[in-house]
Amino acid sequence: MRKKYIFINTVILFVSLIIFLITSISIVYYLNERNTNNSIRNYLSIVEASYDGTNMDTVASRIHTSNKDVRITFISSDGQVLYDTSKVSEENHLDRPEIKNLGTIAKRYSNTTNKKMYYLASYDTDSNVYVRVSIPEASVSDVVTKYAYYSIFGALILSIASFGIIYLASKKLVKPLKEEIVNLSNITNNELSYDGDDIVELSHQIEGVRKIIDKNIRDIKYETLKLNYIIDNMNNGVIIISGDDKIILINNLAIDILNDNKENIIDKNYQDVFKDFNIENEIVDTMNNDYKYETIYKKNGRIYAVSIASLFATFVIKGNKHGVAIFIRDITEAKMLEQVKLDFFANASHELKSPLTTIIGYQQMISEGIITEESEIKEATSKTIKEATRMNQIIIQMLELSKLEMETDVEKKELSIINAIDGVLESLDVLLQNKNIKVIKNFEDFNVFMNMDELYHIIRNLIENSVKYNKENGTITITLEKDNKMLSIKDSGIGISKENQSRIFERFYRVDKAKSKDLGGNGLGLAIVKHICMNNNISIEVKSELNEYTEFILKFNDK
Ligand code: ADP
Repeated sequence: MRKKYIFINTVILFVSLIIFLITSISIVYYLNERNTNNSIRNYLSIVEASYDGTNMDTVASRIHTSNKDVRITFISSDGQVLYDTSKVSEENHLDRPEIKNLGTIAKRYSNTTNKKMYYLASYDTDSNVYVRVSIPEASVSDVVTKYAYYSIFGALILSIASFGIIYLASKKLVKPLKEEIVNLSNITNNELSYDGDDIVELSHQIEGVRKIIDKNIRDIKYETLKLNYIIDNMNNGVIIISGDDKIILINNLAIDILNDNKENIIDKNYQDVFKDFNIENEIVDTMNNDYKYETIYKKNGRIYAVSIASLFATFVIKGNKHGVAIFIRDITEAKMLEQVKLDFFANASHELKSPLTTIIGYQQMISEGIITEESEIKEATSKTIKEATRMNQIIIQMLELSKLEMETDVEKKELSIINAIDGVLESLDVLLQNKNIKVIKNFEDFNVFMNMDELYHIIRNLIENSVKYNKENGTITITLEKDNKMLSIKDSGIGISKENQSRIFERFYRVDKAKSKDLGGNGLGLAIVKHICMNNNISIEVKSELNEYTEFILKFNDK
């Protein structure tokens, strides 16, 4: 293809030269003709001025002597040649175009001179003679023909030379281009399939490399997006700090944790972000040494585990300080759970210790003979049994809680909520009668899908509490709304203060410890109710006014 272009170039050059040649020859011809026309008119004027009617020979020979090519003819009014510097013709000259159209230049081949001649004539009225001047069509044509020959030859040589020059120049021009294409091909691992000099083929090669680079850029962008997506959706906060103390990467979670204003903190100094002396010290240490450090960071009531590690990637090393990677993990829940467990064990030990102390005390008094009276021994034994039953109750409920926490599969079925409530009320009949409590029922029956023991457990616990913490002659209003799958148990009892309402579901929590103990309570009942509700997607809410009422509202949400 390159050779084709050079060939086309050369042909264009050649044709241009020929056109130039033709144009220049035409111009030379035109100028020559104009010159000849001017000359012939000049010669005629000279002859006219010099001719006095008799001196034909003198005038003609003077002009002829100065220019041999000029032919002067004197013709009589009847067309006979009177005088001619060339051979005298016998022919009548009246029908000659220059005689018929005086003052107009005529051109024709002359048999007399054997040349193409220009003719111009005038009529001398004094002597009644036609004066005619003629000159040959100038001698330029010879020159022009030679010029044309040499020019065509020159054009040919020039074209061949230009072909060679362009060929070599383009080869030199293509060389760096080819080298660049080879480099690009190496970058993209693309084998160069063409090794010639053809520019079109090379441009195809570039196009191929461009497509590969485009694809690579798209892949890189996609990978960056993927990486950003993963980093931003990690459960841990991630921060990368370069050796010059600037934050160069931070994910959304870390921004949420550290930056209260949610402003862009890329390129900010890390000290402006952490504002924690301990962490800042560790970052400095980690930047200067190969180091890994774990610490706790507290902010806005949450607890975070922060791990700081040295980074040695070249893009984070600045001067002699290397970069730092920081991972932040929210451990608030884990810490709280740990605390709840510790509290639970402390409470459980405490709850079990007091009945055990009472039991041991009574049994020691009996065994050491401190109490001997039968009635005293009977009383001590009955107290021992009461405390042991209490311990047993605590242990049963603790086991129940741990079973619920393990979320073991329990058998579930469709159960009528009215049946469950009526069953519980029947079993609590004595308790209700003892306090003379009236139960008001607003029932719309509906079914719930759950384990029978668990359903009975929550209903029993809530109704039992509404009896235990009710006043004498009080009421319990139980409402069932089918549409909302809602159960409300409202008593007219002692009520629960606002601050205690949020705590009554905690394990072992009792508003009034002594009163609860008297009533046989241990503070585990509502903790178990809450757990069963959680496991069965039941929402539980408490509303209460001190000394007026307490209402527990349960909504059985579909799983
Ligand atoms: P307890 O065994 O002490 O009854 P619960 O876990 O069932 O334990 O209840 C925790 C505490 O919540 C009780 O000690 C009591 O102070 C309070 N409470 C629960 N239900 C009621 C209610 N209906 N009226 C007033 N206080 C209640």
